[in-house]
Amino acid sequence: MKMETSIQGLSASLQTARSARKIIGFVPTMGNLHQGHLNLVREARNLCDVVVVSIFVNPIQFGPNEDFESYPRTLEQDSHLLAEAGCDVLFAPSVEQMYGQHQRLTNISVAQITNDLCGLQRPGHFDGVAVVVTKLFNMVQPNYAFFGQKDFQQLAVITQMVRDLNMPVEVIGVEITRAEDGLALSSRNAYLSEEQRKVAPNIYQNLKLAEQHLHQGEALVKVLADLRNALSEVGFEVDYVEARTPMLENVEQFDKDIVLFVAAKLGNTRLIDNLQLKYIQP
Ligand code: AMP
Repeated sequence: MKMETSIQGLSASLQTARSARKIIGFVPTMGNLHQGHLNLVREARNLCDVVVVSIFVNPIQFGPNEDFESYPRTLEQDSHLLAEAGCDVLFAPSVEQMYGQHQRLTNISVAQITNDLCGLQRPGHFDGVAVVVTKLFNMVQPNYAFFGQKDFQQLAVITQMVRDLNMPVEVIGVEITRAEDGLALSSRNAYLSEEQRKVAPNIYQNLKLAEQHLHQGEALVKVLADLRNALSEVGFEVDYVEARTPMLENVEQFDKDIVLFVAAKLGNTRLIDNLQLKYIQP
């Protein structure tokens, strides 16, 4: 595995692959890798000739009071894991390399679906994501890009942007990787105390319970209210508990495929999760 820290170095590393028309797969990450990230890499390995992974903690997608400074940075450990998982090129640029070359005047803003869910609590977050992903796409020029369904809204935003702007890349959503107790793997889980880590799987457990109640015919509003209450009762500060269609449209009832979304804090740690539910005609 090669590691590149400059845009020129990345281009040089990919030149042979490009001229040989190899299929390039790309997995953008912020590092501190876990099995969730590595499953994206494995998926890319299965589908593509060359696998590129980026590790970049993107300052412009963090709000002023968020965890940009304290976000775990574990490049050496990450590079070993990536080599084992079959990554060919690791791109780990500095903030200076990504944003310091000249003043940026261009923003990328996907309307509507970013004014909801995490977009409400994190203003500007998805613009920051859209900008960095576009820059990375232009640098890597991948055929396929892999994103986790863990960040369902982010996947929807990137899919929309790629479609709207005719970006020549196919976006692939990869299912959520969970710990044995159901907690969705996340770099931010490292912030949890031992006690909080025991409470955290309640999100998934209650999402599954909600699914069961919906399949038994309980009303969606009631199920969402119960889910919110159950999480508050075990110590979460709930940001939102919502249901949307997979295209992030509002839903009143469980009469089509839906996605249940949760964002909730344990102490200062904000966790997100979601569950896709298939509607089965009675
Ligand atoms: P991050 O490093 O948190 O920006 O995540 C990089 C990519 O990994 C994103 O596409 C995430 O959705 C994906 N990802 C993170 N955690 C998981 C998980 N538990 N399961 C599947 N994908 C994940």
